[in-house]
Amino acid sequence: MPERSVVTRIAPSPTGMMHIGTARTALYNWLYARHTGGKFLLRIEDTDRERSTAEAVEVIFEGLKWLGLEPDEPPVFQVARAERHRQAADELLARGGAYRDYMTPEELEAERELARAEGRVVRSPWRDRAPNNAPDRPFVVRLKCPLDGETLIDDQVKGPVRFENRNLDDLILLRTDGTPTYNLAVVVDDHDMGVTHVIRGDDHLNNAARQTLIYQGLGWDAPVWAHLPMIHGPDGKKLSKRHGAQAVSEFADLGYLPEAMRNYLAKLGWGHGDDEIFSDAQAMAWFDVRDVVSAPARLDWDKLNHLNNHYIRQADPQRLTELVVGILKSRDWRLKSTDKAVLERTVPLVREGAKTLLDLADAVVFVLKTRPLELPEKARGLLGEETLGRLDRLRQDLSGAPAWEVPPLEARIRAFAEREGVGIGKFGPALRMVLAGGSPAPDLASALVSLGRDESLARIADALSLAR
Ligand code: GLU
Repeated sequence: MPERSVVTRIAPSPTGMMHIGTARTALYNWLYARHTGGKFLLRIEDTDRERSTAEAVEVIFEGLKWLGLEPDEPPVFQVARAERHRQAADELLARGGAYRDYMTPEELEAERELARAEGRVVRSPWRDRAPNNAPDRPFVVRLKCPLDGETLIDDQVKGPVRFENRNLDDLILLRTDGTPTYNLAVVVDDHDMGVTHVIRGDDHLNNAARQTLIYQGLGWDAPVWAHLPMIHGPDGKKLSKRHGAQAVSEFADLGYLPEAMRNYLAKLGWGHGDDEIFSDAQAMAWFDVRDVVSAPARLDWDKLNHLNNHYIRQADPQRLTELVVGILKSRDWRLKSTDKAVLERTVPLVREGAKTLLDLADAVVFVLKTRPLELPEKARGLLGEETLGRLDRLRQDLSGAPAWEVPPLEARIRAFAEREGVGIGKFGPALRMVLAGGSPAPDLASALVSLGRDESLARIADALSLAR
């Protein structure tokens, strides 16, 4: 039989935020599809009508888009396929793999208690009753599970996991109102979408056994299973609010770049030797779901920050400027039309230490200030008579600088200090103060280049007249 080409999918339920665990699941499905030259699909599992919202669907689209993990085909909406799910249940009934269960709620309750007392799962008497003497009352459709033997899930991450069939109850496929249940819908949709590999959170491992029995009942091939361990907080406990962030959108708001997230999430439970930093292309070439580790992963902020800093230092300054402008606007900065060019010049000079885009936004603020800068109280201490005289001479010297670039300006400042017979420490802090007004600023030459010649000289002149 020819091998079918790989189809993976992510199947989130649109009931709120997009969890970082869902993002990693999406990433692994995407990487595996890319690794094998297959397809990566999206299904919105919106059958829970009470909890599913249009906004939450949008959050998923946005989250995947931001992460750069867009599916290869338009999304499938599960709720729209209810008729097809019912059809599959009918097919199972016709094949003898399912039955109509007419137990009343009272009867079910009584059977539950009995089953509990006898230490077994619920079994309906309708399982073996002939359908022709059915009463005229509501019924559910249940899967007719085998009573003995075992169901093996040969999981790509967990290894072989065995379920004893006698512990699996006859799960409901259609409710009394005819709506399909979760497990039926997942199987029918995965089958119809041609999904070959189900890669998802290990909270669904038990469902895999039940779903396998549905596949068998319908005479379909079950997919390859891969159940991923959870992502925990740094303390090893289930990730929660108190760990800082859980939602994809929160990571975006905290100033992480999507490529850093991809690199970080790829590493969170999978790896390629000691490689810490790798490109998408490398991850695609290397990723195999069989190499995912089965123990829970722990979120490590230091590692994430380290990667994010790396990608900030690599990123195109124009793109970073756009992102920084977005952050500044959200902080109510009113930007002038000329500011963008200034920011684009500044970003490469200040990004060295930025762990996040928020850090980067803090680092550029000094160039955006309007003259004359308000100098903080502590500036007075720095701007004594002697220093003012020196800054005046430095200003004159700088105004004659032929090239306004970092290396020649550094050399010029060093030469100036030598001529003055002092260390740069004697006037450096004062110069920084008058250039940045107490805001964070990079080293002197970088600050001068960020500001540009005219603005730099004007800020020094302002401080001189203000202090005198
Ligand atoms: N809708 C399920 C969830 O959000 C995923 C089901 C699956 O991947 O099979 O947890």
